[in-house]
Amino acid sequence: MMRAMTLHPAIVILTGAGISAESGIDTFRSGANGGPSLWEQHRVEDVATPEAFVRDPDLVLRFYDMRRAAIQTKEPNAAHRALARLEREWPGTVTVVTQNVDDLHERGGSHNVIHMHGEHLNAWCTTCDARPRWTGLLIDRPPCPACGARTLRPDVVWFGEIPYHLDRIQRALADAHLFVSIGTSGAVYPAAGFVRLARELGIATLELNLERSQGSAWFDETRLGPASEVVTQWVDQLLGR
Ligand code: NAD
Repeated sequence: MMRAMTLHPAIVILTGAGISAESGIDTFRSGANGGPSLWEQHRVEDVATPEAFVRDPDLVLRFYDMRRAAIQTKEPNAAHRALARLEREWPGTVTVVTQNVDDLHERGGSHNVIHMHGEHLNAWCTTCDARPRWTGLLIDRPPCPACGARTLRPDVVWFGEIPYHLDRIQRALADAHLFVSIGTSGAVYPAAGFVRLARELGIATLELNLERSQGSAWFDETRLGPASEVVTQWVDQLLGR
């Protein structure tokens, strides 16, 4: 049963690597403009698991140092800016739940952003649990600004680790009237399961993606195209432009 629409429905938007692709940040499987991606040059098991960090910490730290440096040269695109406009102008709550570890939603103007897979621009001290903002390198094992231990790692959720803020995300979904998924392949759980949870809760569901994803069948509607176009059009439509 579809949840009754109120005057100012709350919207939860799940974003994935696809929303940042037009900013020049590689998605998980393919590089920007069809080129090979960093992820492909490195197998996931070699750079994005706790086991990889134990086995070859220098490789992992260098990989994330490179990505941290790279994202600081990228700019938000029209899709990030459209979501920020939606947050500003929509009379209900707009929550962006992102799987992305870049900061393009924030730099695009969004404030209500939940980073379920952590952030490139944070480090995490595994000794004292501090999470300082970090724009430089970690490869040289700099001391933690809080406790001095040289045990900083990227504050990103690796495969096999538990995503952040799942309670907050569940609460946002429980209050939502519309769930929108943008630029995510529907392959990485638990995010890939949010659409099913939304359906169980009776929330309307919409997918915006370049191509149909593994989860497309679960959505009430799928609109295909580059995020800079389809997200902007959807936001314009919602705001009555
Ligand atoms: P994914 O790479 O598995 O899938 C990317 C999706 O984006 C695909 O469905 C593809 O069709 C779509 N896409 C590609 N270009 C698009 C465009 N221009 N407009 C709209 N859609 C487009 O990404 P995922 O589902 O987010 O899962 C990958 C995992 O890797 C996540 O856990 C994420 O944390 C991580 N990751 C993050 C970043 C980032 O922070 N920018 C980049 C790569 C990977």
